[in-house]
Amino acid sequence: MINAQAKKNIRKAIYLAEQKTSGEIRVHLDKKGGNDPFDEGKKVFEKLGMTNTEARNGVLIYLCFNRKQIAILGDKGIHELVPDTFWDNTYKRMSEAFKKGAFEEGICAAIHEIGLKLSLHFPVNNHNPDELSNEITES
Ligand code: CA
Repeated sequence: MINAQAKKNIRKAIYLAEQKTSGEIRVHLDKKGGNDPFDEGKKVFEKLGMTNTEARNGVLIYLCFNRKQIAILGDKGIHELVPDTFWDNTYKRMSEAFKKGAFEEGICAAIHEIGLKLSLHFPVNNHNPDELSNEITES
């Protein structure tokens, strides 16, 4: 579903989104998953050290295609500022794209939306280190 080219495009989408914000976005692909995608996502969130940002503004897109599961987890810095409806809407749009088989497009669109939201609350100043790798992780 996500081939090498798609991964490259997703990394690029993350890179572009992060140019406009100090926030950080990561994507994780899980093969096995669990009953509750949010619980699984939280485990990955911790494992990846997603809280390792100065402003606590990391966002993880957790995906398990085998179980058709999506979870979007924002660290406390961003979670406190963004209403639940934003995460719900992003989730819904991605899920609709996946139903049409548009996996790469759905992920990139979500990255774009999250990046825009992050940029409103965490705009870039001159110091914008890449605090979390843009590489897609898999387990
Ligand atoms: Ca990054």
